[in-house]
Amino acid sequence: MKVLVINAGSSSLKYQLYDMRDESVLASGRVERIGMDSSIVTHEPADKPEVRDVSEILDHVTAVKKVIDMLTHAEYGAVATMDEIQAVGHRVVHGGEVFNSSTLVTPEVKLEIRRLFDLAPLHNPAHMMGITAVEANMPGVPQAVVFDTAFHQSMPNTSYLYPIPQVLYRRHKVRRYGFHGTSHQYVSQQGAELLGKPLKSLKMVTAHIGNGASCTAILDGKSFDTSMGMTPLEGLMMGTRSGDLDPAIVPFVMNKEELTLNEVNSMLNKHSGMLAISGISSDMREVTEAMEEGDRNAKLAFDMYTYRVRKYIGAYAAAMNGIDVLLFTAGVGENSSALRKAVCDGITFLGIELDEEKNAKRSKEARVISTEASRVKVLVVPTNEELLIARDTYTLVQAQAAGETNV
Ligand code: AMP
Repeated sequence: MKVLVINAGSSSLKYQLYDMRDESVLASGRVERIGMDSSIVTHEPADKPEVRDVSEILDHVTAVKKVIDMLTHAEYGAVATMDEIQAVGHRVVHGGEVFNSSTLVTPEVKLEIRRLFDLAPLHNPAHMMGITAVEANMPGVPQAVVFDTAFHQSMPNTSYLYPIPQVLYRRHKVRRYGFHGTSHQYVSQQGAELLGKPLKSLKMVTAHIGNGASCTAILDGKSFDTSMGMTPLEGLMMGTRSGDLDPAIVPFVMNKEELTLNEVNSMLNKHSGMLAISGISSDMREVTEAMEEGDRNAKLAFDMYTYRVRKYIGAYAAAMNGIDVLLFTAGVGENSSALRKAVCDGITFLGIELDEEKNAKRSKEARVISTEASRVKVLVVPTNEELLIARDTYTLVQAQAAGETNV
């Protein structure tokens, strides 16, 4: 079966086509600047050169049509006809309390995703446009949705409730949801496989450190706690997000600086974090380079960033009454040996001993980077959210064909 994975944003749409027989990627690409005058499609077929196309793509329906044209193109396509694509899987950021696993798209599921627009106003409406655009272009092809929040629905209420008046939870569902769930789930499974142990037997902290960043405590194979909250702003310091801070800062700063709600929201989400402290960039590569050249603000940003990762790992080791595995993933976690060293060298008391040579080695493979003697195994596992979306979609469609409905 060939499965198309789509991640639809408000003005962009990323795609990957998988052959599920061997989970190989037949083609991938992205449509950018949807709704603007010159939209760009970058199409990357496996084993063929990349193709770029600039044209007017005014909406998601046209974007999906363009993707299908690319995938079925005689010269640089990946399939002969559209009929070969037998299922489509979508990334959906927010599944609220309704979705604790991936599911096939039905009219009821679409209604629930619409009901969640309030909780993810920037993301869920765009995902819905992706779903309806596939319906318009590929009628009858089954679609599945895979939620960033679903993996964290296993959190106990001690982890997910905020200590504020509970009328806000009852009326508006103000609670912690967590994000990056697809990534935390995928890498934890891969990590357990690498160690040859059942995931259920391991107390694991997964550190997804990319532009956005979150740590998850995984107990009994399930998410027990995670650092992002009702929105992705809570938790670790990130590229441009502040992460945890005293909430009283918000009214204080609004008052002093005469900021609107939108302005303070934008300040904390887009102009804070590593960008604000370094004054240079939100990009870890640039901050690390500046730090190595002696820039003091870049060093402060790096030190604050890694300090906060250490604090969360320590907190989660306490929350689970132990830790067996610490796992790094995503852009920074997979590539920055400096970050992994700074984090691990400060928490040796937990039984973490990094193998300097293994940590410094660059590789795209999942690997162990702790010493043989280290009580806690430290892993680097490349994340692959698209593959997990393709797998869930495949499983759901197969189960439906066999008369079942859920994975
Ligand atoms: P992601 O959001 O997972 O794509 O991660 C993006 C982040 O990964 C950016 O801050 C990049 O600077 C960072 N990153 C990518 N490659 C490296 C690298 N070799 N060293 C340090 N950071 C990196």
